Amino acid sequence: MKFRIPQIAWVMLLSTSWMLPAHAVDVRAIRLWAGPDSTRVVLDLSGSAQHSLQVLKNPDRVVLDVAGARLTSGARTAPAGTGMVKQVRLGRRPTGELRIVLDMARPIQAKSFLAAPNNRYGYRLVIDLGQTQSVETPVKVEHARPDARDLIIAVDAGHGGEDPGAIGKNGTREKDVVLAIARELALKISAEPGMKAVLTRNGDYFVPLRDRMRRARAQQADLFVSVHADSIRDRRVDGSSVYILSQRGATDEASRWLAERENASDLIGGVSLDDKDDVLASVLLDLSQSASLSASQVAAERVLRELNRVGEVRKPQVQQARFMVLKSPDIPSMLVETAYISNPQEEVRLRSPLHQEKLAAAIHQGVHDYFYANPPAGTRVAQLAAGAAPRAVLATAGDSGG
Ligand SMILES: [Zn+2]
Repeated sequence: MKFRIPQIAWVMLLSTSWMLPAHAVDVRAIRLWAGPDSTRVVLDLSGSAQHSLQVLKNPDRVVLDVAGARLTSGARTAPAGTGMVKQVRLGRRPTGELRIVLDMARPIQAKSFLAAPNNRYGYRLVIDLGQTQSVETPVKVEHARPDARDLIIAVDAGHGGEDPGAIGKNGTREKDVVLAIARELALKISAEPGMKAVLTRNGDYFVPLRDRMRRARAQQADLFVSVHADSIRDRRVDGSSVYILSQRGATDEASRWLAERENASDLIGGVSLDDKDDVLASVLLDLSQSASLSASQVAAERVLRELNRVGEVRKPQVQQARFMVLKSPDIPSMLVETAYISNPQEEVRLRSPLHQEKLAAAIHQGVHDYFYANPPAGTRVAQLAAGAAPRAVLATAGDSGG
């Protein structure tokens, strides 16, 4: 007897550990990114993992079970709640799965996917939490008068949240500097009579490219300006560039490469989100794009001309590339690569509030010039353009060279 008990216990232990899912994957970190109407939870994993996701009510919570997962020291403390997540709780089910419970502030929809490694991250388990209503919160566009509406300019700060964009040699992140420039640009635009700017993101969170376009459309934007900072291996390269969508696709290898990189925000490790109808959508969009493309070209030329006054312009012509974010069929759109964050001097300048203001002022001036030369009928700017010299109206531009 005295001999047998430990033997039985040992056999049981052995069989139990054999029956349990073997420890297969480490959870290295749990990160939360809160936006105004969505929150993303990201688990950094050492490898692929099986998981299940449940959305429960009374109280509203999301339960994530990950098979064979172990929390490493970096992930053992539950992160603080943020956005619509009130609290994060960590536990283990009797069956061995790691359980993560997200206590929610309100009813939500949730979806999850496993993202394969890319050059920035390893395996990630991503949970996107959104409001149960449509993501597009209806926004009333205020008109000054029914017969003279304000122009709406959508200002889009590239990247955000877990997508830092390009990173400079000294650690400057594109997502931070472009948000600063975008905010400054929006202030300048909104300070002008007859114009109102709306930001597609106003914080450090991820907004899918299609949502950026949807937000612009929900606001009935007259123009979409996406603000970025470029990066290239050759650190000597500097200067700004302005892109519009190309109809026939990227014309040269460099812009194709760039387009792939900028579009990669929506492709987390090669997993395209909600874009199964992408090919069909692109075909339909391309057909209706001609009119806004020519407007985009004219507007982009104005912006490029003004950027030329601030510093070196990389290429004197407006460039064309297949940026997803420029694909609104009905809104003239441009993407401004304000500078090369990979160039050490430009990296320093991009961090400087003074230089950020100069870049914003240049883009603003270009936008202003475009609309005063081509005012949409029925806008206050059309009235102002008829009565005033274009440049005299402007009070906020940084350059006085006029
Ligand atoms: Zn970018």
